[in-house]
Amino acid sequence: MMLPLLTSKALTQAGFAHGFTTRLGGVSLPPFDSLDFAVLRDPALLRENQGRLASAVGFDPGLFHQAMQVHGAALLVAGGDPKATLALEADALAAEPGTNHAVAVRVADCVPVLIADPGSGRVVAAHAGWRGIEAGVIRESVRHLASNGGSAEAMIAAIGPSIGPCCFEVGGDVGERIAKASSDDVIVRRAGEKAFVDLRLAVREQLRGLALADDAIDDVPGRGPEGCTRCDRERFYSYRRDGDASGRLLGVIVARG
Ligand SMILES: [Zn+2]
Repeated sequence: MMLPLLTSKALTQAGFAHGFTTRLGGVSLPPFDSLDFAVLRDPALLRENQGRLASAVGFDPGLFHQAMQVHGAALLVAGGDPKATLALEADALAAEPGTNHAVAVRVADCVPVLIADPGSGRVVAAHAGWRGIEAGVIRESVRHLASNGGSAEAMIAAIGPSIGPCCFEVGGDVGERIAKASSDDVIVRRAGEKAFVDLRLAVREQLRGLALADDAIDDVPGRGPEGCTRCDRERFYSYRRDGDASGRLLGVIVARG
């Protein structure tokens, strides 16, 4: 079976191998069927899923890096043994040009964000839930690329599938905190003490605030309910919907030469 990937036209045109997974095309068993990338389940099934992903995206499975995600803003530059990277805490993982390193983030409702500097070939994969958005994981990602000579005006960002504003209900105080970190527009609806928040818009607003061009920010699954992990049970895992029975999706990008 072909492994379906969601991809960004802008990243593809700039020559960056990358993709956002759906739950389709893997070997994991129910309730995690079938392309689960959670790191603490059956290692043989995970290896097979990772191998299929490596073939579909086009990277060496031995150069595939992930970190331990803690909803913070720390950025780590991938290198050395991928097993060692996985033991380190970081919510943004960078890959150096010319290394062929692939960097990935695992999500199940949070926003996976892939950012590339076309000038150098350097890339970052960021895990952006509301806490990471508030903590500044997007800012740290862009700052890393910029401090290595990249121009924010020329960077490309792809935003992957996440929980949508239809389903991301939070307390009003949390909604205000996300709005303060991005834009008032991210609160799409208030219901009593609750607020419905558009996390992908929050990421876009932060990227725009960091000088990325609006048309260089690619909302890959589309805006609205078609990209909502909680609504689309057929394609996506969702922690809000399935709790501990939820698998993990992946956003992955490979450094260019
Ligand atoms: Zn939804």
